[in-house]
Amino acid sequence: MNKVYDRVALIGLGLIASSMFWAIKRAGLAGEVTGYARSQETRDTARRIGLCDRVCDSASEATEGADLVVLCVPVGAMGEVAADLAPALKPGATVSDVGSVKRAVIDAVAPHIPAGVHFIPAHPLAGTEHSGPESGFESLFDNRWCLLVPDKGADEQAIAALQKLWQGMGSNVDRMDPDHHDLVLAVTSHAPHLIAYTMVGVADDLSRVTDSEVIQYSAAGFRDFTRIAASDPTMWRDVFLANKDATLEILGRFTEELFALQRAIRRGDGAHLHDYFTRTRQIRRGIIEAGQDTDAPDFGRGQTPKD
Ligand code: NAP
Repeated sequence: MNKVYDRVALIGLGLIASSMFWAIKRAGLAGEVTGYARSQETRDTARRIGLCDRVCDSASEATEGADLVVLCVPVGAMGEVAADLAPALKPGATVSDVGSVKRAVIDAVAPHIPAGVHFIPAHPLAGTEHSGPESGFESLFDNRWCLLVPDKGADEQAIAALQKLWQGMGSNVDRMDPDHHDLVLAVTSHAPHLIAYTMVGVADDLSRVTDSEVIQYSAAGFRDFTRIAASDPTMWRDVFLANKDATLEILGRFTEELFALQRAIRRGDGAHLHDYFTRTRQIRRGIIEAGQDTDAPDFGRGQTPKD
């Protein structure tokens, strides 16, 4: 028996929550999983595809009696959602979230958590450009990291249970301080997304290159930017608004490096370019060695159709 919690409530039923549900079921990690989404349409879809054992018509109903409540809504909506369900939390329950930014979510959610309820923020480093209740799949978290970001005095037993859940869903688990988390993610995820959005926007603006040329010849790098730039607009708007300082710091550094490369190209400084690209190639090798991507040609396309 792998059961970690008797009842888990998923609030918000998009990519992450639906993947959690299928992963929880795959490993038998919970007795019952309840779910709630704000729109009737999403709740209807969830009922139709069998997402959650019980789909509820309010966040309170889904939360009542739950041992673990996971907030799976955009970062900017976390505080409001926590305030709405807080009165229904049972003593001893754990509230967690999956938001991509941690400091802003902690500031928004923590004030609503009643005494006797544990709050253990988390962030699974796994996702795709798809969203909504039908986009989830059970293997999304396999061999991906999930970062737990508990407060210093947080209950160790509650942390251990949440860790067991994420490990049961396939993740490797680590702990991190919230501000450090936000800086690390600004480097590894947030700034790269902004750069991808910009690159796709630039291609769209370039009148000398036609849209059909961009689409037809996109395999040479651009296609990967378009995949990232297709990510959910609401989620990413909230990420940048909530992780403003760290993202701006990294973008400042990025701009400096970009100017240095621009100067090297203008001056014909091949040695600078070669050294730089040799260093970045090492980083790519490190990611593959850490098992966080494939070195198959063309990024293993065809092998991981959902990602
Ligand atoms: P998603 O597929 O777009 O689903 C979002 C869910 O939140 C939907 O059920 C939606 O309800 C609900 N929602 C949206 N705005 C809301 C609001 N203002 N109030 C209440 N509910 C609202 O999103 P997701 O990709 O699962 O992302 C959920 C969380 O996971 C976000 O905090 C994100 O930062 C984090 N995350 C995402 C990824 C990723 O790659 N996608 C990876 C790691 C972490 P309706 O369907 O009824 O509109």
